Amino acid sequence: MYDVAVIGAGPAGAVFAAELAAADPARKILLIDGIGDGKGKMCGGLLAPDAQKVLAKLNLTLPNSTLADPQIFAVETVDLVPRRVRHYTRHYLNMDRAAFDAWLLSRVPPSVTVVAGRCFAVTEEGGEYRLRIRRKDGVFEETAACLVGADGANSLVRRRFFQDTMLRYVALQEWYSGDVENIPHYACVFDAKTSDSCSWTIRKDGLALFGGAFRREGCRSAFAEQKSRLESHLGQPFGDPVRREGCFVASPRKWRDFIPGRPGVYLCGEAAGFISASSFEGISSAILSGKLLAESFLGGKNPREIFQRYRRKTLPLRLKLWCKIPKMHILCSPVLRSLIMRSGIQSVKRYR
Ligand SMILES: Cc1cc2nc3c(=O)[nH]c(=O)nc-3n(C[C@H](O)[C@H](O)[C@H](O)COP(=O)(O)OP(=O)(O)OC[C@H]3O[C@@H](n4cnc5c(N)ncnc54)[C@H](O)[C@@H]3O)c2cc1C
Repeated sequence: MYDVAVIGAGPAGAVFAAELAAADPARKILLIDGIGDGKGKMCGGLLAPDAQKVLAKLNLTLPNSTLADPQIFAVETVDLVPRRVRHYTRHYLNMDRAAFDAWLLSRVPPSVTVVAGRCFAVTEEGGEYRLRIRRKDGVFEETAACLVGADGANSLVRRRFFQDTMLRYVALQEWYSGDVENIPHYACVFDAKTSDSCSWTIRKDGLALFGGAFRREGCRSAFAEQKSRLESHLGQPFGDPVRREGCFVASPRKWRDFIPGRPGVYLCGEAAGFISASSFEGISSAILSGKLLAESFLGGKNPREIFQRYRRKTLPLRLKLWCKIPKMHILCSPVLRSLIMRSGIQSVKRYR
C-alpha cells in the first residue's frame, strides 16, 4: 500500500515525485511510466523563458548534455495561404527532449519506487485506489491511498475520474536527415487549408523535423498535404523521413478544461490541461504544477486540504493559461493573423 501512486514520469510526475520525496523521504511513493522506445516523448524540445524561470526558482541548472545544436534566436513565421513570412525574436533553448526528461527523472531519490509499465485500469474501492499495471513480465496490481495523474494529454486518470470534454489535436511529426540546409532552423507554419492550428520545423543535431497539430479526422492526409505545400514554399522536398511519430496534444478552450483534480485524485501537467493553447508550450506548466502539488502535500495529509491548497496555488497558473486562449483564437484566425503579419509589429527585419 503506497501513500501516493503517480502515473506518468514526464516533467510533471518526475518533479512532483522528486520534490515530495526530497522533503519527506518516509512517504511511500510509487512512480509508474509506460516503457517508451528510448527516443523520448514526441516534442519540439524548445525550453521557453517561462520554463527557464521555473528551473531558476527550483535552483536548477541545465546540464549541457540536454542541449541540442544549434541554439536559436528567432522564429520564422510562415503563412502558407497568403505566402507571407515574418521573423520574430525568441529566447528558447533547443533541447534533446529525451535527455531532458532523463535528467529530471535522475533527480528522483531512491526512496521512490519507479516502475516501468503501463497502467491500464484504476478503480476506487473504500477510499483506496487500485491500479492495474502491464509490465514486460506480466500484469501487476498496486494499491495507494491517493492518486496523481501526471500522464499527459490523453490522461487515463482524467478520463476515468473527471468529465472530460477538452479538445485534443493529433500531433504528427517526421524527422529528416538528408539535405536539410534550406529548412528553417525554427519555423512556425500556418496553413488554413489543412489545419486550424499550427505546425513547426526545427533543426536538431544535424536533423530537421517537421510536425504539426491536426484535427483527428483526416489528420494523416492533412499532414501529407501541408507537407507538400510547405515543400513547394521552401523549394525543396524534405526527403524520406528517418523517424515518424504521433501523439495527442491538449488544446484547452475554456476555464473548465483546467482540472486540478479533487480530494484524493490530483492532476498535474498536461493531464490537468496545463498547456498554452496558443503555442503548445507545456514544459513550464508541467514542472510548476508538479512542484505546487508537492508543496500542497507537504502542508498536511488531509486529502480535502491538499486539494484546496493545490487549487489555490494553481490559480495564477490557470489564469495565465486561460489568457492564452484568446491569443490562440487571434493567431489561428487567418484574417487577424494576416493583419498582424502585414503590420510587421515586433518583427525583425533580416539583412540581405
Ligand atoms: C508535438 C509536440 C511538441 C511540443 N513541443 C513543446 C516544446 O517545444 N516546448 C514545450 O514547452 N512544450 C512542448 N509540448 C508540450 C509538452 O511536451 C507537454 O506539455 C509536456 O511534456 C507535459 O508534461 P507532462 O509531464 O504533463 O506530460 P508528458 O510529458 O506527456 O508525460 C506523461 C508521461 O506519462 C506516461 N504515461 C501516460 N499514460 C500512462 C499510463 N497509462 N501508464 C503509465 N505511464 C503513462 C507517458 O509515457 C509519459 O512519460 C509539445 C507537445 C507536443 C505533442
